[in-house]
Amino acid sequence: MSKNTSSFTCTACGAAHRKWNGQCEACGGWNTIVEEGALSSGPKGSLAKGRSIPLTDLATQGAAPPRASSGISELDRVLGGGLVAASAILVGGDPGIGKSTLLLQAVSAFANKGLKCLYISGEEAAAQVQMRAERLGLTKAPVGLGAETNLRDILTTLDRERPDLAVIDSIQTMWLDTIEAAPGSVSQVRAAAHELVTFAKKKGVSVILVGHVTKEGQIAGPRVVEHMVDTVLYFEGERGHQFRILRAVKNRFGAADEIGVFEMTGGGLSEVTNPSALFLSDREKATAGSAVFAGIEGTRPMLMEIQALVAPSTLASPRRTVVGIDGARLSTILAVLEARVGITFAGLDVFLNVAGGMRVNEPAADLAIAGAILSAREDVAIPPDMVLFGEISLSGALRPVSQMENRLKEAAKLGFTQAVAPRAAKVQSQAGMTLREMSDLTAFVGEMFGAG
Ligand SMILES: [Zn+2]
Repeated sequence: MSKNTSSFTCTACGAAHRKWNGQCEACGGWNTIVEEGALSSGPKGSLAKGRSIPLTDLATQGAAPPRASSGISELDRVLGGGLVAASAILVGGDPGIGKSTLLLQAVSAFANKGLKCLYISGEEAAAQVQMRAERLGLTKAPVGLGAETNLRDILTTLDRERPDLAVIDSIQTMWLDTIEAAPGSVSQVRAAAHELVTFAKKKGVSVILVGHVTKEGQIAGPRVVEHMVDTVLYFEGERGHQFRILRAVKNRFGAADEIGVFEMTGGGLSEVTNPSALFLSDREKATAGSAVFAGIEGTRPMLMEIQALVAPSTLASPRRTVVGIDGARLSTILAVLEARVGITFAGLDVFLNVAGGMRVNEPAADLAIAGAILSAREDVAIPPDMVLFGEISLSGALRPVSQMENRLKEAAKLGFTQAVAPRAAKVQSQAGMTLREMSDLTAFVGEMFGAG
């Protein structure tokens, strides 16, 4: 082997670099680049003629892929309607967020539905997994449990057992004896994932790979294998909150952006079938700085409370603090309010937060964000039975958003009686609900908060 086979790879995003650098240019992470031996590019020599591969036409040969239901509807929804046979799924998340709990419950649920399931733990001894199963009340589920990190032994076991589903917890602990790198390094994690995904496709076994999100250092994060799998799910939540969100960020067999909502309880994770009610449950009556956003998460409507606090600042450049919302979105909305409506936030700190540890990515949340900020600034409460949604353009116009009727329907279901929304053709209000359509931000401010 020549000396130039080592390369520099980012452990956070997997980008390859020619030399070491303090910061990764691809993802912006600090101290994430490590030196590693290159993956083998195969034996050198003349390029022998390969065999010709069979070709077919574009028409599908069969029906949709068969799916297995776990009976945990929040999980099945995120998977796109159940587990697809021979699929490879990555479940990423921060250490300690509850991934092992979720997957032990999931694998038990699939096993109880008649699937042959294996749970391979490289993180914990079998006894520790058994103790967790005991705590979760899952000891009766017919799951085969193994504690191993050597991938050659694991693949041999999988080949002998031929399960329908194998959970590998976690991909960072697995190692191949053919690769000269430490477990957890980018090359080991990639090679192990590649072997497992290839095995899944070839032998018709579904695999779920668990991946810990790592902040920095020598351990490769789940992003380095995202491109190899069919489905990428992230398990999110704030440690202080009991809610956990399972979010699909990629799914070859279903809608991306779909979420499942769970609640962490003493007996494990329980599914939350009516998240809107939960996220609004501890809302106080008519408080200034609070607005309820009628959002869409994946394929379902969900109501969330947006909270704002506006206070005089002692700093030369006032604070703009966000939790659960993109900071750039807040800056844009503040700039539009200033330029188009003449409301300035100079000298004022602005804090913005989504209640319950939720995260909002939709532009449709703009109007509720603006409503919460203005309500906090003017100290005027938005009626507690009102929902808001609509995208704010840079001109200050309110733009229609998708699924307006579904948003209104969800709000009506939860007892809201007023909605503020962008003016749009052919939107039916719901029974018992007053729909106030507005075309721009100036009209919204005038109607809700007086002249501003
Ligand atoms: Zn990077």
